[in-house]
Amino acid sequence: MTEREGIIKYRLDYTAATLERPEDFAELNAWRGVLWRLGLIGQDDARYGGLGFGNVSLRLDEGGFLVTGTQTGHIPHLSFGHYVRVVEARPADNYLRALGPLPPSSEALTHAAVYGVSPRVRCVAHGHSPEIWRQATKLGLPTVGADIAYGTPAMAAAVSERVRLSPDGGIVAMLGHEDGLLAWGATPERTCWVLAGYLAKTWQAME
Ligand SMILES: [Zn+2]
Repeated sequence: MTEREGIIKYRLDYTAATLERPEDFAELNAWRGVLWRLGLIGQDDARYGGLGFGNVSLRLDEGGFLVTGTQTGHIPHLSFGHYVRVVEARPADNYLRALGPLPPSSEALTHAAVYGVSPRVRCVAHGHSPEIWRQATKLGLPTVGADIAYGTPAMAAAVSERVRLSPDGGIVAMLGHEDGLLAWGATPERTCWVLAGYLAKTWQAME
C-alpha cells in the first residue's frame, strides 16, 4: 500500500465559518512556529511528494479542538485564519465534523483520538523528523507498529492505547507513517518541548 502524506482519509462534514479566538491560541501558534523552525512541521519538495507535513491542535473549553488547516505546512508563521475547529469526531467511524475558514489537517482524526482518551490533554502536536524516527527504538521511544497506516481508525486505536498508558503527556513514533511522531500534553509548551527534547537527544547520540 502506498502512503500519501496530507491526503484526507476520513469522512468530513465541513462548514465554512468564522471562529472565536481562544485565550491560549497565541501559545499554540508560537510553538507551532518553533516546530516549523526545527523542521518538524514544513514542506519540502524532496519529501512526501512535496506535500505539507506536521500539525498542532488545542482543546477548546466550548468543546472539540482547534487544529491547523490542511496544507498549511509550508507557511512559517500562521494566523488564526489558518486554524479550524473540530466539533465532533468519531475515530472508530472515521468521521469528523469541522467548522472554520478551511478544512482540517489530514491527521485530525488521530488528534481526536488523543483528546478522547485523556481529559488532561490540552495540546497534541504531530511532527516529522527522519532523525528521531530512525533512532526511535535506540532512544527508547514508544512506537506504533509499521503495519498501521496514518490517518486510519487503526492508527487512532493504536495511539489511544499509548495515551491510556501516559494520560498526562507523552510521545509516540508511528513506524507505519514515515518520520511521523505524535506528542501530547497539558499545554502547547509542554507538548512541543518533548519533541524538541528528543531532537536534542538524537543529536547527542550522534556525537
Ligand atoms: Zn504526518
